[in-house]
Amino acid sequence: MKAIRVHQFGGPEVLKLEEVPTPKPDAGQVLVRVRAVGVNPYDTLMRAGTYAIKPPLPYTPGSDAAGTVEAVGPAVTKVKPGDRVYTARTLTGAYAEYTLALEEQVNRLPDKISFEQGAGVWVPYGTAYHAIHHFAKARAGETVLVHGASGGVGTASVQIARAMGMTVFGTAGTDKGLDLVKREGAHQAFNHRSTGYHEEIMKATAGKGVDVILEMLANVNLGGDLKMLALEGRVVVIGSRGDVTITPRDLMSRRASVRAFTLWAAQPAEVAEIHAGLFAGMENGTLRPVVAKTLPLAEAARAHKEILEPGAEGKIVLVP
Ligand code: NAP
Repeated sequence: MKAIRVHQFGGPEVLKLEEVPTPKPDAGQVLVRVRAVGVNPYDTLMRAGTYAIKPPLPYTPGSDAAGTVEAVGPAVTKVKPGDRVYTARTLTGAYAEYTLALEEQVNRLPDKISFEQGAGVWVPYGTAYHAIHHFAKARAGETVLVHGASGGVGTASVQIARAMGMTVFGTAGTDKGLDLVKREGAHQAFNHRSTGYHEEIMKATAGKGVDVILEMLANVNLGGDLKMLALEGRVVVIGSRGDVTITPRDLMSRRASVRAFTLWAAQPAEVAEIHAGLFAGMENGTLRPVVAKTLPLAEAARAHKEILEPGAEGKIVLVP
């Protein structure tokens, strides 16, 4: 089978399309025929060798594949050959024609969700669900600011928050991104590249501030986020690319908190809840992964360049 292989950490050019043996499922394992692969920002950091997790070389990137079950190993009961599935991590990497996964890493994909959309489920929607339900402990009637709402995690967050009855504000950096954020369910959208947008957000809450902020770029925004929080407000740090200065008194005066997580550390009970919640949302039509662009697997290097450029409009997906 064809797979993307990384033999040394480095720039996008280290992503090489190669012929490798197709894996075979052992006990408790599932072989998935991959139809689409989600590209996530962490894939680029891992490839560069700057991520907290450094895989042994060579490796095949990717945790988010969607496709059909090709074969199952002994004792697998959750899925059978032919089932439509998405993966939440894999054993052999998702950027390939086939991927081997543990039974618990494979989840049913509702018929109304395409494979391209299915490739945008685990990291984006799993992160959004984990942030909203487990970390922010958000409730219907509260106001959420999705700070960076036009990308994979942002669009997922907007859809989940809107469906659960929150008032949703989202930010994007382009007019197309702002349109997308509103289309996916935000009540109001703000441009994070315009001056004075913090004041506009405060005005939209009649000066009260927002209850929850889901933050995609904390090193740029955390200091300003704290000043936009309502009493008992919570910031959940999802993404950050460096250090930041904050004024702790902004937290003290609001009885506010900052929480943070990585999806890798989600506990088995949380993961089970996430998949159940996402399946229901996809089935009832409230969760609809947004595919911005589909590229052939051979163009993985291009996908790694483009995902870091401004102007997100949902997910970049690779097709083997
Ligand atoms: P993505 O699809 O590349 O989207 C990036 C988002 O950040 C876009 O909405 C972009 O908006 C926005 N952005 C750019 N500049 C911004 C600014 N100054 N203020 C606020 N937002 C800004 O990435 P993603 O998949 O949504 O992931 C978002 C971040 O979360 C990444 O840093 C990723 O590594 C991280 N993440 C963390 C976890 C975890 O476990 N903690 C899991 C998934 C992702 P425009 O392009 O419209 O400017």
